[in-house]
Amino acid sequence: MKNALIVGSGLSGAAAARALAEKGYRVQVIEKLPHIGGNAYDYTEEGILLHKYGPHIYHTNFPAVHEFLSRFTEWTPYAHKVVARIDGKFVPVPFNLTSLETLFPKEEADYIKVVLSAEYGRDAKVPVFELRAHKNDVIRKFGDYVFEKIFYHYTVKQWGRKPEALNPDILKRVPVYTGYADGYFTDLFQYMPVKGFTTMTENMLDHANIEVILNEDALLLFKLRDGKILFNGKEYPGAPLIYTGCIDALFGFKYGALAYRTLRFEFERHGRTGFQPAAVVNYPNEHDYTRITEFTKFTCPPQKHTVIMKEYPGEYADGDIPYYPIETPDNLEIHAKYGAEVAGYKNLIPLGRLGRYKYINMDVAVKDALAVAEKL
Ligand SMILES: Cc1cc2nc3c(=O)[nH]c(=O)nc-3n(C[C@H](O)[C@H](O)[C@H](O)COP(=O)(O)OP(=O)(O)OC[C@H]3O[C@@H](n4cnc5c(N)ncnc54)[C@H](O)[C@@H]3O)c2cc1C
Repeated sequence: MKNALIVGSGLSGAAAARALAEKGYRVQVIEKLPHIGGNAYDYTEEGILLHKYGPHIYHTNFPAVHEFLSRFTEWTPYAHKVVARIDGKFVPVPFNLTSLETLFPKEEADYIKVVLSAEYGRDAKVPVFELRAHKNDVIRKFGDYVFEKIFYHYTVKQWGRKPEALNPDILKRVPVYTGYADGYFTDLFQYMPVKGFTTMTENMLDHANIEVILNEDALLLFKLRDGKILFNGKEYPGAPLIYTGCIDALFGFKYGALAYRTLRFEFERHGRTGFQPAAVVNYPNEHDYTRITEFTKFTCPPQKHTVIMKEYPGEYADGDIPYYPIETPDNLEIHAKYGAEVAGYKNLIPLGRLGRYKYINMDVAVKDALAVAEKL
């Protein structure tokens, strides 16, 4: 039987483990936390499913990923909605015609609607950067308004950097809807796992060929030296090592530390059924937190109380959890050096959001993991 070692039991590690186990590999998964699931970890308290590391909503356009995950969970349909608090009012995000009518005087809103409709038609999804670069003054000013009120300050809070310092793809993804649709995602599949992401991951890892070891920092177990992987001091025999932790830590920060954003979460229990108008409310222009999540608004049956979570971003320091890779040109340059180093190790496969230093959603984490297993 062939062996494989996987560092990390998040969705990348778990999906790779399952796919390899089904190909006949004996897989060991090493996880430094006391639980599986990585960032997608959730747990139930007083009947409410709470997401410990920030709200996770499943959405994908990849049928193969959906088919794979559906083997490990049943789903509840869930159409995610987000609102932002702007100038004292709650408006849908992405910004749509309801947001426009709520924030602008009626005559001005009507005029902007006519101009947008003539240019893009109804129900189009237009990137905000395209509006800001438009030759028509009305469209350009409207684009600037949305950028300033919804995006600019939120980005500065979230990333600790101005938008121009970040990967331009981030801005390319911010849309405005020229209709009244208020769904946050437009993917083909939009669901929540009935028993949560942890149970789904648990089912994925439940295979006779998989052993999961918790509370173990893999970096204390193996070393990389001159193209060789040393495991407990001995050369690791030609088996794949799939690594989903931080790539800079793996190489002892030899080309410098990569930057990450961390998050601090404050949970609050309130003795009433509802706290806010949507599952997630963004606060782009006020408070130190970026958003408040209300967990009972996901797929929870009615409760007498509710639980909310405020999310405070900050710069990562040693000991924090590295939530988001910061894809600035400087960091990507450092990352490329680690990437070149990886090429010198035949059986080393970095994977996932930390291994590849790329912000990815859960579905892409699973898609990449399945592709790696397929290739092996
Ligand atoms: C706040 C937040 C909200 C998000 N919301 C969504 C969403 O709504 N929808 C969506 O699709 N995606 C969302 N994501 C992205 C999603 O979390 C990731 O795509 C997915 O969890 C990636 O899984 P991963 O396995 O690559 O990484 P992780 O989940 O980080 O797993 C890596 C695992 O490796 C372990 N590990 C690291 N180093 C070591 C070591 N040295 N030894 C042993 N173990 C180690 C870690 O403890 C961790 O368990 C969100 C992310 C964040 C931060």
